[in-house]
Amino acid sequence: MVNPPNQADIVIIGGGIVGCSVAYHLTELGLSDVLLFERKQLTCGTTWHAAGLVGQLRASQNMTRLAQYSTELFAALAAETGQETGYQATGSMTLALNAERLEELKRQATMANAFDVTCELIGADFVRERWPGIDTDDVLGGVYLPGDGQTNPVDTTLALAKGARNRGAQIFEQTPVQRLAIENRKVVGVYLEDGCLVRARQVVITGGMWSREFASQHDIHLPLHAAEHFYLVTEPLPSFTSMRPTLRVPDEQVYYKYDAGKLLLGFFERQAKPWGMDGIPTDFCFDALPDDLAHIEPMLEQATRRFPELADTGIQLFFNGPESFTVDDRYLLGETPEVSNLFVACGFNSIGIQSSGGAGKVLAEWMRDGKPPMDLWDVDVRRTFAFQTEAHFLRERTQETLGLLYAMHWPHQQYTTSRNVRLSPLHQTLLDQGAVMGELAGWERPNWYAFAGQDNYQYTYHKPNWFDACQHECMAVMNDVALFDQSSYPIFWIDGEEALACMQHICANQMDVEIGQIVYTQWLNEDAGIEADVTVTRTAEQTFMVVGPCASERRDATWLHRHAEQFNCSVRQDQDTTIIGVMGPKSTALLARLLNGSEAIEQLAYYQSQQYKSAEINVRANRLSYVGERGYELYLPRKHAVSLWQQLMSNGADLGVTPAGFHAMNACRMEKGYRHWGHDIYDHITPTQAGLGFAIAKQKDNFIGKAALKNQRGPMTRRLVHLAITSSNAPFMIHDEPVYRDGEAVGLTTSAAWGHRVDKSLAIAELTHAQGVTREWLSEGYFEVEVALQRYPVRVQIAPFYDPKSARMKD
Ligand SMILES: Cc1cc2nc3c(=O)[nH]c(=O)nc-3n(C[C@H](O)[C@H](O)[C@H](O)COP(=O)(O)OP(=O)(O)OC[C@H]3O[C@@H](n4cnc5c(N)ncnc54)[C@H](O)[C@@H]3O)c2cc1C
Repeated sequence: MVNPPNQADIVIIGGGIVGCSVAYHLTELGLSDVLLFERKQLTCGTTWHAAGLVGQLRASQNMTRLAQYSTELFAALAAETGQETGYQATGSMTLALNAERLEELKRQATMANAFDVTCELIGADFVRERWPGIDTDDVLGGVYLPGDGQTNPVDTTLALAKGARNRGAQIFEQTPVQRLAIENRKVVGVYLEDGCLVRARQVVITGGMWSREFASQHDIHLPLHAAEHFYLVTEPLPSFTSMRPTLRVPDEQVYYKYDAGKLLLGFFERQAKPWGMDGIPTDFCFDALPDDLAHIEPMLEQATRRFPELADTGIQLFFNGPESFTVDDRYLLGETPEVSNLFVACGFNSIGIQSSGGAGKVLAEWMRDGKPPMDLWDVDVRRTFAFQTEAHFLRERTQETLGLLYAMHWPHQQYTTSRNVRLSPLHQTLLDQGAVMGELAGWERPNWYAFAGQDNYQYTYHKPNWFDACQHECMAVMNDVALFDQSSYPIFWIDGEEALACMQHICANQMDVEIGQIVYTQWLNEDAGIEADVTVTRTAEQTFMVVGPCASERRDATWLHRHAEQFNCSVRQDQDTTIIGVMGPKSTALLARLLNGSEAIEQLAYYQSQQYKSAEINVRANRLSYVGERGYELYLPRKHAVSLWQQLMSNGADLGVTPAGFHAMNACRMEKGYRHWGHDIYDHITPTQAGLGFAIAKQKDNFIGKAALKNQRGPMTRRLVHLAITSSNAPFMIHDEPVYRDGEAVGLTTSAAWGHRVDKSLAIAELTHAQGVTREWLSEGYFEVEVALQRYPVRVQIAPFYDPKSARMKD
């Protein structure tokens, strides 16, 4: 065997379909000095036994684009490489057995069509015609995607490997990588089993289910866990004389795949079996796990009722193979927060074949350009947290995630496993007040406060059971005063000789402000895309407090640390302080009863911060609001949170004080048009396009993204706008609903909520128009939004629907 070189531009660890796709796409970009190391043989991990389904529709536009690209790539690979892939465009059908599932499928069809994926609503006749023998008595309808297909995973991987080799990549089988070589938090190569160092500028981990353990040697956290994944293959079926589309019956947790005259029946059981708890065996190579008929039996019985021919057909193979699942069913992609130049693509949640083409392509572009080519936050590894790699967390969550792939994808659905990881100091107090918790970034957060007789979510696509409770909370925000537990918000302190210079460099807004001034700002990348959306308080000459959203904590921390390195200042995350929001027109009156300090709370101006005392508790009050009313965020030591909360509740009884949850906050911010990072704003939209131009300090000397902002010329072809459904039967929107102007698709909603103060179904939407999304263009067009295949008239405007001049907050 030829020895590998001891140096390369890029090293890839793992030769499954994903590693080979990364190699293929790197070389396609002209990065041909690539070494791929595979511990045993190409495809011997998970890839070899995949069912090979290739679907196109995912939960968001960019994920769908990537899956779509995979189908195009697989269709063309054989001609390019001379290696057959077995790819066939078979089409796929998904059936609904109940009204809510039909609603979900209609919403998916709406989204598919908006993303240029053909998706037709079908009835039982269509199903029977394409799938003779299937029982459709209880089928309410379904969707048909003619462009979906299936491929042979091994042949497709070999074609990708061949394409990569043809352009210069070298692939070494039987060559396990032992560990990474890291210097100053930057990867510089890998060590092979014999201890040899292979130096490299960039390294990619595509080690499938081995990836978590491999990375953990270096304290790099990749939260994924293997689970057993089952299918069976029958003897040839007499009725299977020609190709049939893939058939999914998610309500029965199964899919039916035509497999060369046989049926491959695959399962997505509600409670999965995690595997490999003591580590993934190093000798695993084209292995299968023991079958477990009892585990799949209930689904098999149901499938036999639905497709009775199964009862008379022998089973040729019961297959059980391991696949890696992540904590949110989305894969892990991108540069690791812990180590620079180290990239990952792993944790593919049983869609690694269909995702491999797109994931390989965008990762290769990311590595070439040093930035993602599109909004990839859905799968960005920076969304994960270290606690998610803990064994008990992963093991428990993995039991749930596999089944969720075929379960209903309800709006606001909460995980039932691995909860109560990060608790607010107010947790029990809020539960006692009726809080119904939702989980975000491991935090248990009050989403709404149940009325007597209610106790939890009852999920639906229509009016939710928490609607009235949320309305009650929003009315308290508008008329009286509401308390929000904001303990989940990460707080960072930037301190030291060059703290101001550091903040001036990172923030697009002016940071050289009076002590006690709060600044709302974005952190931009070199293209002026929004990397983060934060508030910063200058608390001393060279001390700043940064508060950001909870979901992007790790991403924001990474951005801050990496950019602060060049300045003489320290960055520290504050784990001891908690935040209570006091929002509403009576908030000042309430605080006046509790806080005393050098300046009366009544004197505290909008966007000013001041230290107070409540009895013996030090409280910093920041006057600002994300809900559009006069309001304050109180910063105080965690240990005093319960006491202050109780004082606020008791002192505010006559003012109508009410605890309020994140659904109410979301409803209020939607009415006010406040953007939410990760939904409305992201790293590929600029502040100007997002309507946040007011937060840019145009006169400031220099900050990241300034040059790109200056170069923005011409009409504003993309822009965030506000929309409200004007018809009386308004549905509840979620996001990604297409928006039409005079019948032509012009954009998608980015987030949505029912606005209780204006009593309307609202959304923020990103619209595109080559000649500019101007006020005239908006006012002259007839706009509609499509929800579940039905169009509704909408009012579209640049200004928000509630208090556009912000008079209520500033008075
Ligand atoms: C039963 C079943 C059915 C499935 N059906 C489908 C389907 O229909 N459609 C679909 O899209 N997906 C399907 N999947 C999922 C799909 O198979 C996987 O998502 C995909 O194969 C993952 O590819 P990968 O390259 O990430 O991992 P793998 O194929 O496991 O590749 C990782 C490779 O890395 C190597 N490696 C690990 N550590 C090292 C190291 N230290 N040094 C060198 N090499 C290393 C391993 O040997 C392995 O070959 C299915 C999975 C299962 C189990």
